[in-house]
Amino acid sequence: MKILIVEDERQLSDALAALLKQNLHEIDAVYDGQSGEDYALSGIYDAMILDIMLPGKNGIEVLRSLRGQGNSTPVLLLTAKSEVNDKIKGLDTGADDYLTKPFATGELLARLRAITRRGSEFVGDALQLGNTELDKNTHELSGKTGSVKLASKEYQIMEMLMQNSRQIIPKERFIEKIWGFDSEAEYNIIEVYISFVRKKLTAIGSDLQIKAVRNTGYSLEAPEC
Ligand code: CA
Repeated sequence: MKILIVEDERQLSDALAALLKQNLHEIDAVYDGQSGEDYALSGIYDAMILDIMLPGKNGIEVLRSLRGQGNSTPVLLLTAKSEVNDKIKGLDTGADDYLTKPFATGELLARLRAITRRGSEFVGDALQLGNTELDKNTHELSGKTGSVKLASKEYQIMEMLMQNSRQIIPKERFIEKIWGFDSEAEYNIIEVYISFVRKKLTAIGSDLQIKAVRNTGYSLEAPEC
């Protein structure tokens, strides 16, 4: 991913840049609010790490201005402990998440992953994720080594998974959406269908994986792009 860092404390900015580069992200770093806004408006970033206390325009003003201009780059705000009000204002202004300094690097990476997680959307008649494509007209699932037609409920499950990839979908949401709210369907029916879909994914050489989350539901894992 391409990430913009807007943080005036050089040491912190450099440390963030090093960490993110290590994790194979591309980084641009700027050190004041106005530059942050100008860079972000290019629209080329997958995410932006935005400090609140900045010289010139502060982070909240930058964020307000970006959102006002229709820029929806996911924003992770950095706040000091004493800036609780700013944090709330930031979320109200359209920040996707915030992190209080000092923070653990693992947490920063996790939050960045979370705010940039977006399921795949239909392009024309197909959903695409990893090496796999799902056609909404023919219900055909295609992968590296072949394709297979999904039965109606299998298709609906796969569509939900692909549109919410890398997020945990609780079993009850599958039941509500596919079988209906007042359905008598038991949770284990989901397990049965998931196992059908898994077999088909394997059969077509897909690089997608349906992960079971204990006692909760399922998430579709795709290779990082
Ligand atoms: Ca600062």
